[in-house]
Amino acid sequence: MTVNSQWNGQFSRFGLVAKTAERSQTIIHIRELTIGAGGFVVMAGPCAVESERQLLTTAESVAASGAQILRGGAFKPRSSPYSFQGLGEQGLKLLSKARQETGLAIVTEVMSEEDVKIVAEYADIMQVGTRSMENYALLEALGGCGRPVLLKRGMTARLEELLQSAQIIAEAGNPDIILCERGIRTFETATRNTLDLAAIPVLKTVSHLPVIVDPSHGTGVRCLVPIMARAAAVIGSDGLLIEVHPTPEKAWSDAAQTLSLEDFDEMMRDLRRYVLLAPAFEVLGAQLLAAGGTH
Ligand code: PEP
Ligand code: MN
Repeated sequence: MTVNSQWNGQFSRFGLVAKTAERSQTIIHIRELTIGAGGFVVMAGPCAVESERQLLTTAESVAASGAQILRGGAFKPRSSPYSFQGLGEQGLKLLSKARQETGLAIVTEVMSEEDVKIVAEYADIMQVGTRSMENYALLEALGGCGRPVLLKRGMTARLEELLQSAQIIAEAGNPDIILCERGIRTFETATRNTLDLAAIPVLKTVSHLPVIVDPSHGTGVRCLVPIMARAAAVIGSDGLLIEVHPTPEKAWSDAAQTLSLEDFDEMMRDLRRYVLLAPAFEVLGAQLLAAGGTH
């Protein structure tokens, strides 16, 4: 049985990120960590870096709960120009201090090609947010940044368009890309976005890139985060991105979807048994695409 990595031709233009017999899985190395090697990597932390105390308290707690990577926005893409825009370089310095104190790697968003250099000085992983997935100047600048990129799916982007953006980063010289499903816009209003869970097996079948899930932005609803995290683990996601804050109801951004330190710890304990159920995608891909590549 051969795996048709092009999903019946739909993804045929993205050769650099397509799964092939020669290149079936990218493994990303960050400090002592690997992503895409079969483990389950959890990135956790506040939506925005607010203060040293907020960040260090969160970092120490999520590390003790088993997270390996600390997230936190220093440059924040906000829907309103009147909302908190992030601490900028001061936020990056706090992230670096948190790394020093906890050993956690750092993922943080870069919004503009002009900021690539400064963010790369502090971050272990460069996050491209949903609003920037089609910012081609930024994607091209990330080709030479020397850091892995966490590429979030645009909120109105098809998977084909997500892979197109990944191809641009790879073509620009950076093959270390992690894809992130973070929910898409639909007509549903009970949740902030609709978390497209089918995206994970599709992407894992057609691409060699690791794929993680962000159920925080994917639902926008705190109580839905742990159960959607379970689902992500079971369908073979390479990890999670989760918003956590010491006092979630007081978070300066994304409060409604943010877990407390205690909720996060409980989620991590609960997840252990679900991670063991994850499928092997070489096998699943072959099954899905058997019989002449139909799906
Ligand atoms: C975030 O991770 O805080 C964020 C702004 O995410 P997104 O780009 O998916 O909205
Ligand atoms: Mn957020």
